[in-house]
Amino acid sequence: MANDSLWETSAVKILRAQPGFELAQLDRNSTPGFTGNKADGQRLLEERGGVLSDLQELLYANGRSGDTRSVLLVLQGMDTAGKGGMMRHVIGHVDPQGVDHASFGVPTDEEKKHHFLWRIRKELPRNGYLGVFDRSHYEDVLVVRVHDLVPPTVWGARYDEINQFEKELVDAGTTIIKVAMFVSLDEQKKRLQERLDRPEKYWKYNPSDVSERKLWPAYQDAYQAMLDKTSTEHAPWYIVPCDRKWYSRIAVTELLIDAFEKMNLSWPPADFDVEIEKARLADS
Ligand code: AMP
Ligand code: MG
Repeated sequence: MANDSLWETSAVKILRAQPGFELAQLDRNSTPGFTGNKADGQRLLEERGGVLSDLQELLYANGRSGDTRSVLLVLQGMDTAGKGGMMRHVIGHVDPQGVDHASFGVPTDEEKKHHFLWRIRKELPRNGYLGVFDRSHYEDVLVVRVHDLVPPTVWGARYDEINQFEKELVDAGTTIIKVAMFVSLDEQKKRLQERLDRPEKYWKYNPSDVSERKLWPAYQDAYQAMLDKTSTEHAPWYIVPCDRKWYSRIAVTELLIDAFEKMNLSWPPADFDVEIEKARLADS
């Protein structure tokens, strides 16, 4: 079966957040648009990972030749949604020298003194780079909202600020792919259980993850508001069900490939005379 036919509707089309979308209705165990099974998905990930790698090399090559464009993948999701795995299994296909990765945890004392976008601006991808954010500026309207870390008037104003900030980035040549990763409460429990059962996973476990589960409904409301208010024409959200890791990985791979293809990249021309250089090399 040809790869293309395993997607009856493309990931870009079917996952893009639509007005009126209700997060409560999302089946987090579903595989929207994809007709294949897990084995198909795993095989496809390897194949399409190669395509992604070639496209990323093109971007990097262009960046080296003065192209100022970049790509930014924003991964936002609850603990255990699979953000780390996305780095390893999707971004792992591309040349690490072209990747600018950043993860955002609880702000440091220094970061707390600044505007919430200060630490984000410092980590934006360089020209020609694929940037990946593991968590992002959206924490400032998610965890911050759920835990009342700042007054509602402050976080309430951030949605517009974020839209404006992202518009600036897009206008300056960054393609932003925002991926909202949704795992179910049950699947999260299984994944946390695994972190407690396997010593090689202890490092991923944080006792606060269990406390956060009690706040699940408040988080869902905060995610719904985020999707409603910040899915823009210039930087739309893609909603990815994550109970099946193999699906979420091929979905994000396709979102990235689509973004790169829309950049219409080609190999930068030589900035030297190829024939002369061949002759010089032959003589050397
Ligand atoms: P992890 O991604 O598992 O390393 O966890 C990072 C933690 O940092 C999560 O619990 C986030 O909610 C938290 N975090 C990230 N950004 C912020 C923020 N701006 N304010 C408060 N907590 C944050
Ligand atoms: Mg964690």
